[in-house]
Amino acid sequence: MPHRLSKPPVYRFAPSPNGLLHLGHALSALLNARFAAETGGRLLLRLEDIDRTRCRPAFEQAALDDLAWLGLTFDEPIRRQSEHFADYERALDRLRDLGLVYPAFLTRGEIRTRVAAIEAGGAPWPRDPDGAPLYPGPERDWSEAQRADAVAEATAAGRPFAWRLDMAKARNAVKGPLTWQETGLRAHGEPEDGKTVLETVHAMPEAWGDVILSRPDAPSSYHLSVTVDDALQGVTHVVRGQDLFHATSVHRLLQALLDLPEPVYHHHRLILGADGRKLSKSHRDTGLRDLREKGLSAADVRALVV
Ligand code: GLU
Repeated sequence: MPHRLSKPPVYRFAPSPNGLLHLGHALSALLNARFAAETGGRLLLRLEDIDRTRCRPAFEQAALDDLAWLGLTFDEPIRRQSEHFADYERALDRLRDLGLVYPAFLTRGEIRTRVAAIEAGGAPWPRDPDGAPLYPGPERDWSEAQRADAVAEATAAGRPFAWRLDMAKARNAVKGPLTWQETGLRAHGEPEDGKTVLETVHAMPEAWGDVILSRPDAPSSYHLSVTVDDALQGVTHVVRGQDLFHATSVHRLLQALLDLPEPVYHHHRLILGADGRKLSKSHRDTGLRDLREKGLSAADVRALVV
């Protein structure tokens, strides 16, 4: 519980340098900074750059410039996920040792085709909270020998494959209810305040199906690396956008499986674009750099978001 911590709380802002920061990022960063300042906590910066195909050093520099312009300073060192793949590999090994992970070979196209074939039979196939179909592959039911053969064959042929969490087995491995403590569930329009209203949310990781933990183009997934890093960095309070609310179910499950501590979560409102949709990195009109170039001051941006 945040108010009973004997050590100062630890907050983090964790952007992915795969585009320019926008007003939504500013809200996240400024809220983290405000909660840290109000509680005498530490504020860390983590660059989530595991996706080596989309992340660029130029975006990283732009993020650092934008955050400095907003007047934010972070405790050293900055953590770059791409420098810590061994940490995520160790966690994956542990899940593998627990028998909760399996190799999966269907490509994105094959998943689409298989789901379309199932749905052509009349029954809708379940989607995850982001709208993607749950993994429909057969490998979960394979024997260890079948899996080992398939891995050897794919490796010899240079064919990429992913490691997925066997969600049903993983959920069963955790005894009792899986919950998290949330401070972001407040009536719309009330000021965000990361401390006072603590509510218990029931995690439902099953909604995500057999999530990917490691992929050929990134030796760790978002879910795995964010969970491992929050623990390794001693993060006590995760403050991030409402778009990641459901992902927290997976993070809580991984924390339980890996014996990692449980932070308090605060999922804040999203800033929507003029079209009413979530901001994306391609919305140039709400990019911090563009706003700066248009003559807005950091104080103007602060007034817009917090
Ligand atoms: N890297 C994620 C993003 O930029 C945020 C992850 C998190 O805060 O947990 O959307």
